[in-house]
Amino acid sequence: MGKYIYIDGEFFGRDEAKISVFDHGLLYGDGVFEGIRAYSGNIFKLEEHLERLYGSAKAISLKIKLSVKEMERAVVDTVLKNGLQDAYIRLVVTRGQGDLGLSPDKCKEPTIIIIADKITLYPEEFYNNGLRIITAATRRNIPEALNPRIKSLNYLNNIMAKIEANLADVPEALMLNNEGYVAECTGDNIFIISRKGKVHTPPPYLGTLTGITRSAIIDLCREKGLDVQETPFTLFEVYNAEECFLTGTAAEVIPVVNIDGRIIGRGKPGKITKELILGFRKLTKEVGTRINPKG
Ligand code: PMP
Repeated sequence: MGKYIYIDGEFFGRDEAKISVFDHGLLYGDGVFEGIRAYSGNIFKLEEHLERLYGSAKAISLKIKLSVKEMERAVVDTVLKNGLQDAYIRLVVTRGQGDLGLSPDKCKEPTIIIIADKITLYPEEFYNNGLRIITAATRRNIPEALNPRIKSLNYLNNIMAKIEANLADVPEALMLNNEGYVAECTGDNIFIISRKGKVHTPPPYLGTLTGITRSAIIDLCREKGLDVQETPFTLFEVYNAEECFLTGTAAEVIPVVNIDGRIIGRGKPGKITKELILGFRKLTKEVGTRINPKG
């Protein structure tokens, strides 16, 4: 378990790591974050995660005081300090300490928090047998109100859907956008493969996070010569898919075999999905930002 937490350039023990109750990250969910993985001493796609973090911050008018290079160093230092080779890293930037008012004007400095911990994974049987999921009644935030491309601390929309998943005793819930098109799951992107072998994933403009794992899988599919399309689709296409899988930093690539009681394909993880699981695991070993250049 990671022992040291980074807050604004200093390390604190787990019990001493504290922020103000006047921080707008707490009071209003005003801030942005990233979930990042390190594999065997390599931080996977750190550059892409930081690009998304700074992009999310820009979209909410939050000025991060560290440069991207400095932030990269802070992330690497936190993992090093905790002596971890394999880790789940949570990078949070809040609006900072203000008063009880909504306005961010009073928040002088954003708060930067980095937590590096051991990763808790889905059990291996989920990868071997696939997940059963449901479609949530809660629709994904509309981009015109709060764009899901912003990875903000305001996750209530996803949490509402996650509660539906919990009540249905399944690990994930699929969310549709306001128009009924498939958007994404509460913490993962979705892919389907049609009977013709075409790979489909919803375009981010429909209201999805542009997942880093999603992008890596799109590249991997194209390298394999698969036809990947980012075009809107509905539950009809999902129910009639030959294969389905989810992607995310924590879950990596995980097969789905049942949605709303409809069996997907043959009810087992599909051939292409299995290849992508292996392909992605290989990729995590090959690329990344080295934690200790000498190590
Ligand atoms: N969608 C949502 C809503 C998420 O929170 C996440 C990250 N947990 C993802 C998709 C997957 O994104 P990534 O591959 O960058 O982890």
